[in-house]
Amino acid sequence: MRVGIDFHGTVNAYPEYFAQVMRELRGHGHRVGIVTGAPEWSRAKILERMTELGLPRPDFLIMKSGVEQAIPNVTWKHLVMRREGIDLMFDDLDTGVVRLIERSE
Ligand SMILES: [Mg+2]
Repeated sequence: MRVGIDFHGTVNAYPEYFAQVMRELRGHGHRVGIVTGAPEWSRAKILERMTELGLPRPDFLIMKSGVEQAIPNVTWKHLVMRREGIDLMFDDLDTGVVRLIERSE
């Protein structure tokens, strides 16, 4: 499986938990990365923050391009799941409550 994790309100809110989730899933052969609505130009900053929080380097880091900035995060995340073949996402979808989203939703 390819598993995506949101950054703001998810990975950065519960870094110890998601560090363990990332390692466990990888240990079972899954690919785990970050899908964030943050702009592409902040890629280095996101990776640096993950290191500071003790998170492993993600298998992929998908961010919003310039033209995608106008798309609401909820819509964009679902588009990315289909486009990138991401089976599951952990995301707070700006609600503050982290939940698991399946691609078919
Ligand atoms: Mg979020």
